Amino acid sequence: MEALAAVLNQPNGPFEIEPVEIADPQEGELRVAIKAVGICHTDLVLGSGAMGLQFPAVLGHEGAGVVEAVGPGVTSVQPGDKVLLTFNSCGSCKRCEAGEPAYCLQFFPLNMQCVREDGSTRLSKGGQPVADNCFGQSSFAAKAIANVRNVVKLDPDADLAALAPLGCGIQTGVGAVMRSLNARKGESLVVIGGGAVGLSAILGGKLAGCAQIILIEPQESRRAIALEVGADHVIDPAAGDTIEAVRAILPEGADMVVDSSGFMPAVEKSVGMIGNLGRVGLIGVPGSLDAVLPVPMVQWLTMGGTVRGIVEGDSDIVGFLPELIAHQAAGRLPYDRFVTRYPFEQINQAIDDAHHGKCIKAVLTFD
Ligand SMILES: [Zn+2]
Ligand SMILES: [Zn+2]
Repeated sequence: MEALAAVLNQPNGPFEIEPVEIADPQEGELRVAIKAVGICHTDLVLGSGAMGLQFPAVLGHEGAGVVEAVGPGVTSVQPGDKVLLTFNSCGSCKRCEAGEPAYCLQFFPLNMQCVREDGSTRLSKGGQPVADNCFGQSSFAAKAIANVRNVVKLDPDADLAALAPLGCGIQTGVGAVMRSLNARKGESLVVIGGGAVGLSAILGGKLAGCAQIILIEPQESRRAIALEVGADHVIDPAAGDTIEAVRAILPEGADMVVDSSGFMPAVEKSVGMIGNLGRVGLIGVPGSLDAVLPVPMVQWLTMGGTVRGIVEGDSDIVGFLPELIAHQAAGRLPYDRFVTRYPFEQINQAIDDAHHGKCIKAVLTFD
């Protein structure tokens, strides 16, 4: 079957809208007619080729759509069901069995390798393989093959365009605070970086009942949105030392710091911001694979500090995503404040707008 896709024919694009051939769903797979898909920064990292992506390729991992066909063994959804797509996991390793699929031992091959072990793919063009299965979906296309392990069935009246970005960026930020750092009511939270993930961390802080939420972000427009969606204070890092600025608000230090920037000069400050039993959560991926976060040992051990890495906000399809979908329906997750919608064909424009600060989170929609 043929479907229109945004194909990346070379590292860093541009995306070219062209038809690709899509194989029938195999055991445990399903074909989804994509109605909306968010653009996540990870798509651009993969698209740079830095993680070994083969070209041509179809990316996209925040899809939402309607099931068209299911392969053998798929019973949790059926044709006609609306579904939200998220990251994939194996379901049989010790992390999956413990209900922690974001730390699946097969996370890289199942989400970022984009070809099967034997090099074959579900997509092709002119008889040649097209790298696919990005986060078990490759949803920058009118149709995608997903897996039972990475879909959540939605209500028949669900708003697919509104829900699409939950599948990666939003769940990562909200989950980092609510699940990975286990935020408790009344705690203080500092968020570094006010992109879609950082702003979502603020939303997570609100849901958890955090008492003081502070955003550190250089762009004025993002600081303004942060105040609208729940930040109590915003700090411009250009205005002076961010540790001093945080401690002027929280003299005993913060209970939690979440970094969504991956910008090492900013991340390094997190260590000086936390108080006793404070937790630092790392989401932002630094530009260099060799980046190191220095921790002052004596200070750190006497105050009981924690640093932990975070993937997908420790989310999963059976517990957290349904919870977030309910919060969204009830109006408690106003991430639409920082989402801009574009027709699918305008994918390059959407990415350009994001680079130039004209849009924070882009969602592509199909007619
Ligand atoms: Zn993502
Ligand atoms: Zn696994």
